[in-house]
This record gives sequence, C-alpha cells and structure tokens, in this order.
Amino acid sequence: MPTILFAAKSERWSIYEPHLRTALGENGLGHAHLTVEAAPGDVDYIIYAPNSGLTDFTPFSKLKAVLNLWAGVEDVVGNATLRVPLARMVDEGLTEGMVEYVTGHVLRHHLGMDTHIQGQDGIWRDDSTPPLARDRSVTVLGLGVLGTACAQALAALNFRTHGWSRSAKSIPGVTCHHGADGLNDALRAAQIVVLLLPNTPATDSTLNARTLALLPKGAVIVNPGRGALIDDDALLAALDQSHIGHATLDTFRIEPLPADRRYWSHPQVTVTPHIASATRPASAARTLVRNIKRAEMGEALHHLVDRKLGY
Ligand code: NDP
Repeated sequence: MPTILFAAKSERWSIYEPHLRTALGENGLGHAHLTVEAAPGDVDYIIYAPNSGLTDFTPFSKLKAVLNLWAGVEDVVGNATLRVPLARMVDEGLTEGMVEYVTGHVLRHHLGMDTHIQGQDGIWRDDSTPPLARDRSVTVLGLGVLGTACAQALAALNFRTHGWSRSAKSIPGVTCHHGADGLNDALRAAQIVVLLLPNTPATDSTLNARTLALLPKGAVIVNPGRGALIDDDALLAALDQSHIGHATLDTFRIEPLPADRRYWSHPQVTVTPHIASATRPASAARTLVRNIKRAEMGEALHHLVDRKLGY
C-alpha cells in the first residue's frame, strides 16, 4: 500500500482530497494511504507544491517520486536533497485555460479592441477596420505542452504563426524555429510575441535590449511564461520609446508585483496577477494518480523533468 503525502498549502487539501481519492479508486489504488501527515520514512510519493514549506527531502528514505502540482519547476528543480524522479504538472484544464488566455489577449491586440473600449468619445471613426489574422504574424516562444497548444489555436484562427524551441519541431500550420539563430528569425517575424518558456538559466532575459530590438516597431508582448524571461529595464526602455507598442504581463520576477513598480502605471502595459491559467483539481488529480500508477507498475513517469536542463 503506497503512502502518498500531499505537501501543499493547507487550504489546497480540502480542494484536492476528494478528487485524488476518486482518481485513486478509478485507477485501482483505492487502498493507497493518502495523507497530509506521515512519518517521512513511510512516504512513497509526494504530491508537491514548492510553496508548501517542504524543502528538505533527505528524511524521505524510501521516496520513489515527487509529483509537482505546478507546471513550472524552477523552485524545486535545483534542490540537491531531491534524488528521485521529479514530474511536472501537465493538465488538460491548465492547457485549455492557457489557450483561452493567449488567444484572448492576442485577439485584443490584433483587433485593436482598446481603441473602442477606452476611446468612446462621440466621434464615429470608420477607418479602423483591423487586418485579417492571415495578415498578422504571431510568434510563440516555447513549443512545449502549452506553447504548442497555443500556437495550434492561433494557427487555427489563421494567424501567420511562428514558434521557437530548444530542439527542432514540426507542427502543422506553424513555422518552427530553434536554437540561437532561430530566435532571431522568430522575433523578426513577430508582430505579437507570446512567451511560454520555462524559467531556467538558459532562458533568463530571453527578451533583452538586443532581442527586443529585433522585433518590428510597435510589436506587442504577451508573457504568461515567467517574469525572468524578460529584462525589465530593457522592456521599459523599449516601451518608453514606443518600439514596443504594448506588453501584457502575467508573470513577474517578484510576485505579487510590488506596488511601486512602473508596470502598474505604464500606459502601454497590462498587468494580470499570474492568472493566465491554473491547475484544475479534478483533471490534475487524474494526471497525478495515473503517474503514481505508472511508477507502481515499474514504468517511467510521464512529464519527467530533466534536472540538468531545468525543465
Ligand atoms: P514544457 O516543458 O512543455 O515546454 C517548454 C518549451 O520551452 C519547450 O518547447 C522547450 O524546448 C522550450 N525551451 C526550454 N528551454 C529553452 C531554451 N533554452 N531555448 C529555446 N526553447 C527552450 O512547458 P509547458 O509548455 O508546460 O509550460 C511552459 C511554462 O509556462 C512553464 O514552465 C511555466 O513557467 C509557464 N506557466 C505559466 C502559467 C501561468 O498561469 N502564468 C501556468 C502554467 C505554466 P524543447 O521543446 O526543445 O524542449
């Protein structure tokens, strides 16, 4: 009977417990001991949120795997006390939510919605018909689970869609670039850029003074990825010079974003409070339990994190 420790903020337990118990039952693991408290030496699996306060995995002597509740693993991937496989969260609800956020914000900028929402001044301007999506290029940086789903949705809306990843990819309807040179090409093509890269040493400040300068004048940035993907000073300078037309930012180097940060008041910035998408307990519980079942059957976990690459 495996012991599964749920290590997340205490309020998450009552939300997740019923879904986890249902999923355990459905997967023939109804006998598992699912708990928020256990002697470390008894624990086989930890369902883990990095803000749980658990940082030392050393006492968990028979631990088989850690299953992260979040897609981003930057707060746990470098933990030297963690010596067992680490799986990140892939959840159909999380993906669906991200596709909705990204297409919504891309369409807002593509259609120029702000002009009419904010500028209702009694003047009938009939000269602002937006171009068709087929005449607008959007680049998605990061073609993993979330980036690929978003790129496919944008391509389905007819946007000229480009994507960029570390390794080469082939996605129907998406012009795929990879590697350092690929980034230059992907950015030169982009009227709207969506960042869906993980936060790793290699992705830090992917958008910086040099790379921002590659974007066409007036380009729009949408960042639901991670705050560290952008050099903030470089972005603010590019916004001030109107080289960048707008930035919709959901993630920040410091969260919550401190009240004194210029992003809050900048007229060309939209701040959303890290709400682009969230793990949905019912579908996430099924993902977690299916992975535990795989481990119990001696199979490799899905969505394993490469500790060297950091994602
Ligand atoms: P994946 O691990 O599935 O995909 C990551 C993608 O980034 C891959 O395509 C990978 O390339 C690419 N990549 C990684 N490093 C580099 C690099 N150095 N150069 C170029 N490309 C690189 O992640 P997900 O799609 O599941 O999630 C992406 C991120 O979204 C998460 O890490 C998290 O930070 C963020 N997120 C934000 C949320 C929010 O609410 N704001 C919610 C959920 C996630 P390759 O394919 O070659 O491996």
